[in-house]
Amino acid sequence: MDRLKPARTDSSRRRRRNTSVAGLLAAALIQVGCQQPQQQPNVLLIVVDTLRADHLGAYGYDRPTSPNLDAMARRGILYTHAHSVTSWTNPSIEALFTGEEPRVLQPGASAFIAQDQLTLAARFRALGYATAAIVANPVLSPELGFGQGFDTYIGVAGWSEGFRVPPKQPAEQVNRAALQWLADSSAVPKNRPWFLYLHYMDPHWPYQPPNETLRAFWRQRNVDPDAASGPLNQRIRERIVQSADDVAQATDLYDAAVAHLDDQLRRFFDSLDPSVLDRTIICIMADHGEELGDHGRYLHAHTLYEELLHIPLLVVLPDRRAAQTNESFVQIYDVGRTLLELANVADPAFPGTSLVGGRRPMPLHADLVGAAIQPSHRRALIDGTSKLIETTEGQFLLFDLVSDPHENTNLAMIRAKQLMRLRAAATRSDGLSGRTEIPIKDSAARERLRAFGYDF
Ligand SMILES: [Zn+2]
Repeated sequence: MDRLKPARTDSSRRRRRNTSVAGLLAAALIQVGCQQPQQQPNVLLIVVDTLRADHLGAYGYDRPTSPNLDAMARRGILYTHAHSVTSWTNPSIEALFTGEEPRVLQPGASAFIAQDQLTLAARFRALGYATAAIVANPVLSPELGFGQGFDTYIGVAGWSEGFRVPPKQPAEQVNRAALQWLADSSAVPKNRPWFLYLHYMDPHWPYQPPNETLRAFWRQRNVDPDAASGPLNQRIRERIVQSADDVAQATDLYDAAVAHLDDQLRRFFDSLDPSVLDRTIICIMADHGEELGDHGRYLHAHTLYEELLHIPLLVVLPDRRAAQTNESFVQIYDVGRTLLELANVADPAFPGTSLVGGRRPMPLHADLVGAAIQPSHRRALIDGTSKLIETTEGQFLLFDLVSDPHENTNLAMIRAKQLMRLRAAATRSDGLSGRTEIPIKDSAARERLRAFGYDF
């Protein structure tokens, strides 16, 4: 395997230019489309915040939310059983970039990723990659450690303090900033591979799809979606499920947001020169899912049911043209090591399990750490097709994910032996043992988290 020699890295840049999208596109084509062949492929990591796997056509959904992603899945590796390690953003993204279970914020700590902690971005940068992040979620601020390893770390919604209404930015803004970065020859020199992380927010509350898209998904013809969406978003914010109609409307709103994101991803890829895509590894995934009334609530960060843990994970390789399905259970913190190996810069020292040619060992763990909202679950363990959940009250729930994928039938009382075995497994490898959940000290970071509903 070829390794690039460590290259000099650029200092942080946050340049913004008032350039039209068309101009940016033309510049991007000139800058990155005419490069000489490079040894390492580019790596494009796309995280769509709050994107449920089962609301995508590639995962069996029967609504047209994702024609673009479905088409990409037909050219790539679709992981059908990928899981997050928790059900809210910060520890999930921490695990993605560190390859480890989320660490506990110790007393006095202010960051999810410590300054001396190896990250995926830092690894790529040390290998000579230009690295950048375009992030639409304000809670992933650099003072919490999430900018570590990036030459450029842009928050399209900013990192401003003290807001109460989340300044959520649509996918268009992420696309624009990404094209701008790709067009910047000082940030992306010729013949230098790049690692670009894009974090989209469209499926995250508040759901604000364009009116035309919302009308296409709205099923209750006697209700005006434009008038209903505001109060509906407020009920969702309060996690109040009023009725089946309420859930249907929330689902329509969410699905329209997913469809808008999917269309924007299509536009972004259409904006890139095919020759760039031909040397780029593309990974598309989510940090966690969303509850749409499945277990009586809305949003996320309160339980560890599958609507929150099961995430989409799709990898499209430059030379891959045929669909491949991987049905093994994989974890979000395996993605980093896998991307390094796919980019021909495998690093045995990087944590996690490479998903190239193998399966990750069972069981999978998940837990709710830190700023969970009125959590009713403490931790979960998946072993084969069985899933154990420990509630915050110390009760155990046992589900068969094949016969009961929506986790409605608790088998704990009738599968006592299996329950004992899984409880023992959970105890032996309990990542939560000795953990102390300490509130984040940084007041601005706390304010941003609260604005998005992470009350703690
Ligand atoms: Zn999130």
